[in-house]
Amino acid sequence: MIRTDALIIGGGLAGLSAAMALKGRKKTFLAEREVRYGGLAATIRKGGFHFDYSGHLLHLRWPETTRLIMGALGANVRTLRRDARVFAHGRWTPYPFQANLAAMPPAVRSECVAGFLRALAAGGGAPGDGSETFDDWSRRVFGAGISRHFMLPYNAKLWQYPLDRLTTEWCAPFVPVPSPGDIIKGAYGPGASSIGYNAVFHYPRRGGIGALASALALKAGGTHLGIEVERVDLRARRARVRHFGEISFRRLINTAPLDEFVAMCADAPAEVRRAAARLRRNSVYVLNLGARGVRSDMHWGYFPGAAFPFYRAGIASNFSRRLAPDGQASFYIEIATDGRPLDLESAERACVKGLAACGLIRDSRQVTEKMWLKIPCAYVIYDADRARALPVIAGWLKERRARSIGRYGAWKYSFMEESVREGLEAGREILSGR
Ligand SMILES: Cc1cc2nc3c(=O)[nH]c(=O)nc-3n(C[C@H](O)[C@H](O)[C@H](O)COP(=O)(O)OP(=O)(O)OC[C@H]3O[C@@H](n4cnc5c(N)ncnc54)[C@H](O)[C@@H]3O)c2cc1C
Repeated sequence: MIRTDALIIGGGLAGLSAAMALKGRKKTFLAEREVRYGGLAATIRKGGFHFDYSGHLLHLRWPETTRLIMGALGANVRTLRRDARVFAHGRWTPYPFQANLAAMPPAVRSECVAGFLRALAAGGGAPGDGSETFDDWSRRVFGAGISRHFMLPYNAKLWQYPLDRLTTEWCAPFVPVPSPGDIIKGAYGPGASSIGYNAVFHYPRRGGIGALASALALKAGGTHLGIEVERVDLRARRARVRHFGEISFRRLINTAPLDEFVAMCADAPAEVRRAAARLRRNSVYVLNLGARGVRSDMHWGYFPGAAFPFYRAGIASNFSRRLAPDGQASFYIEIATDGRPLDLESAERACVKGLAACGLIRDSRQVTEKMWLKIPCAYVIYDADRARALPVIAGWLKERRARSIGRYGAWKYSFMEESVREGLEAGREILSGR
C-alpha cells in the first residue's frame, strides 16, 4: 500500500498550489484523473488553434498570489485593458450596461434612468448579503428598467435557475454597482471605462491559459496524471485510487466538486449526504470556433437577448494572436443549461446565426474549425439550500481534519487566483500541524 502524508484530489490550480506549498516538506500524492493538469484552466489544441474552456483571464488582486502567478508565467504574459461590450436592442454598448446606457434607444434609456432614480429614492443599493433574492436585489439596486433590459434576462440565461430563488452572496465582486453619478453620466455621454473587477486582465502570450498550470506543475511535487480517486474513508484515512489501489494518508485536500466528493466518502453520515444532495449546479457548453476574415478587436460580449442562445461570446485570439493560425480568429461561445444535455447541432447553427446577427461574422462560410467543450459543473447555484447545506458538510470535514477547497471543492463562485490562494493556505495548514 502507498503511504503518504497528504493526499490531494485534483490537479487544477487549487490542487497544484497545495502541492507546491508541500513540496519537499511532506510526502504528497496528488491524483488528477485527466491526462493533463489545470482542470478548468486547461487549454486544448486542435488544427493550429489553442482553445480554453471559455475565456479564462487573470484578474489579480492579492500581492502574494500576484507575485506567484506572474513569476510562474515570467515573460509569457501580457496585460490588457478590457474591451467588453453588451449587445442589446440590436446594438452594441460598452460593458457594464448599467453605466453605458447612452447607446440604447431613447425609450429604453429613459425607462432605465427613471427606474434607477426611483430605486435610488427608495433607498438605493448595497452589496448582496444573501438575505434577498437576485430578482429583488436587482430591482432594489438598479431599478426596474436596467433589471428588465439586462440584469434579469442575462442572469436567467447564465444561471438557468429561477432568479426569485437565486440568492446574492456572489454579487459583490462580480456585479458592478456604479455610483449614481456614473450611471447618469453614462446615460447621456461616454461612460466610465474602468468599472468592475476585470477592467484590466493578464493572459499568457503563448499556450493559452493552460500555460499557467504547466508552469505551476513544474513547481509541485508528487503529482500523478490519469489517476482517479474512487473512494475515500476519512475515518480510516484510506482512499482507493484507480490503478494504484489503496492509499493511506494522514491529511486530505479535496478539490473535486463537493457533492461528488461527499458521494465517494464511505464514512459520510446520512445528514452530510442529505446536505450534499441539496447542492445544485448548472452546466456550460463552450463552442469554440475558428474563423477567417473576423474584423472585430473586441475581447468579449454579453448577450441578454432571447434571440441569442448564448449568454456570452468572446474572441480569444484578441487576448493572444498565437491562439489561432495567421489570418484567423478564434471564438468561444458559452451556452448554459440546468444540467440537461444540449442538442449540439442545432445549438451550433444558432450560434453561427447569432454571431452573424450581431455583426461579428458575415456567415458560416468563414468558419474553419470547431470544437465543443462541456463543463458539467460550471456555476454552483446560490440558494437557501446551499446556505443550509454547507455548514453541515464543513462541520463534518473539520472533525475529520480534511479540507475541501477551490471553486467546486468549496462550492462557490470564485476565480483562478482564489483557487491558487486556497491551495497555498491548505498546504500551509498541513505544514503547521493544524
Ligand atoms: C465558464 C467559466 C469561465 C471562467 N472564467 C474565468 C476567468 O476568466 N478568470 C478566472 O480567474 N476564473 C474563471 N473561471 C473560474 C476558474 O475556472 C476556476 O476558479 C479555477 O480554474 C478552479 O480551479 P480548481 O482547482 O479549484 O478546480 P478545477 O479546475 O475544477 O480542478 C479540479 C480538478 O480535480 C480533478 N478531479 C475531479 N474529481 C477527481 C477524482 N475523483 N480524482 C482525481 N481527480 C479529480 C478534475 O479533473 C480537475 O482537474 C471560470 C469558470 C467557468 C466555469
